[in-house]
Amino acid sequence: MNTQTSTHLFAKRVENVPQSFIREILKVAGRPGIVSFAGGLPNPKFFPVKELEECAGKVLKEHGMQALQYASTEGYFPLREYLCKRYYTRFGLNITPEQILITNGSQQALDLVSKLFIEPGDKLVLERPSYLGALQCFSVFQPNFKEVDLEDDGPNIGQLEAALKKYDVKLFYSIPNFQNPTGISYSKEKRRQLAQTMGNSDAILIEDDPYGEINFSGKNLPPVYSFIPEQTILLGSFSKIVAPGLRLGWMVAEPEIIRKATVMKQASDLHSNNLTQYILHEFISKYNLDEHIARIRSQYKFQSEVMVDCLKTCFSPSVKFTLPQGGMFTWLTLPAGITARQLLQESLKENIIFVPGDCFYASNPNTQTLRLNFSNVEEGAMRKAMKKLGEILSGLVDMR
Ligand code: PMP
Repeated sequence: MNTQTSTHLFAKRVENVPQSFIREILKVAGRPGIVSFAGGLPNPKFFPVKELEECAGKVLKEHGMQALQYASTEGYFPLREYLCKRYYTRFGLNITPEQILITNGSQQALDLVSKLFIEPGDKLVLERPSYLGALQCFSVFQPNFKEVDLEDDGPNIGQLEAALKKYDVKLFYSIPNFQNPTGISYSKEKRRQLAQTMGNSDAILIEDDPYGEINFSGKNLPPVYSFIPEQTILLGSFSKIVAPGLRLGWMVAEPEIIRKATVMKQASDLHSNNLTQYILHEFISKYNLDEHIARIRSQYKFQSEVMVDCLKTCFSPSVKFTLPQGGMFTWLTLPAGITARQLLQESLKENIIFVPGDCFYASNPNTQTLRLNFSNVEEGAMRKAMKKLGEILSGLVDMR
C-alpha cells in the first residue's frame, strides 16, 4: 500500500482540528538562549522531586503489587475521597466520591465531556478568547462554536443569554479563575449571574478550574458549580499545584454523568496511571499541600509583579494589559496597526517568544492580542527580555 495516498482515508473530523501553534512554538523554546513567555509551563523548581521520590519508594515497598495492577476506571478511591474533603474545606461543598472521576489531566476530562455531549453541528459556547487546548479538543467532535466576549469581570451575560435563547446550546465552556489565556477572573456577582442565566436554560456549564488554587491573595471565590451543581461539570487538575507530568486531573459532576463518562474513559484507556495515583496520594497525605501551594502562589505573585512592572516601565502606554490576580498569564492588546505576529517575527530574531492571541479565538481573531506567561521565566531574564520586547514594539510603532 502506498502510504502517501492513504491520507484520503483520514476521518473527516481530522480536518477540522487546528494544529496547536503553542506546540510548534515550544519546539523553538528548546533552543539555547531562548526566553520563552510562550508556554503554559509551571515553574519546575516547585516540583516536589525529592518528596515524590521518597513517596514512590514507599508505595512500591508497601503497596507494589496493588499499585502496579490494573485498577478501577473511576480512580484510586482514597484520592477521590481526598478531593471531596478538600472541596468541603475550601468551599463547604458536599461532594461524594461517586461524583468524581480521576482523569489524565483535565485535558482528558475535556475529551470525555466532548464524547458525551457533542454531535457534529451541536452549539457550544466559548468565552472569547478561550483556552486553545479546549478549542482543539472540542473541534475533533465538529461542534458549531458560538462566542461571548470575556470582559474584565467575566463573560458578557447579555450575549450569553442571547445565544442561549437563539440557539439550542448544549454546553458553555468557561474558565472562571485566572483564565488561560487572559488571566481574567469572574467577579462574585458575575458568577451568580452566570449561574442564574445557565439555570434558565438546558445547557450544561463546563467549569474548567486548573488555576483556582494559584490565587495571589489566598482567597477563593465560590465555583459556579456551588450555585448550580446539577447543571455543572467542574474540572480540576494537579498539574499546576503539584506537577503536570503526573497527568492527573479530575471531573466532578452528578453521578449519572460520572457513570457515563467512566464508560467513555474505560473505552479510551481503562484507567489513569494507578502507580502515579498511589504516589500522589502518599504525597498529599504525608506533606502539607496548602503550604506547598502557598510557596507557588507567592513566587508566581512576585513574577507577575515583575512582569507588570516591566510592562509599565518598558512598554508604550498605548499597550493594554490585564492585571493578573493569580494563575500564570497576562494578556496584551497592542496599539492599532500592529499585529502580535509582526511583533513575534521581530522578537524571534532576539530569541524572545510568546503566543500571538489569534490562536485563542474560534472565529474573527483579534490579531493585536498576545499572551505572556510569567511563571516560568526568572526575574533577571524576564526584565532583560521584557525591556527588549518593549524596544522592538516601540520600533514597530515608529514605523507605522
Ligand atoms: N484547562 C486549561 C484552562 C488549561 O490551561 C490547561 C493546561 N494548560 C488544561 C485545561 C489542561 O491541563 P492538564 O491536562 O495538565 O490538567
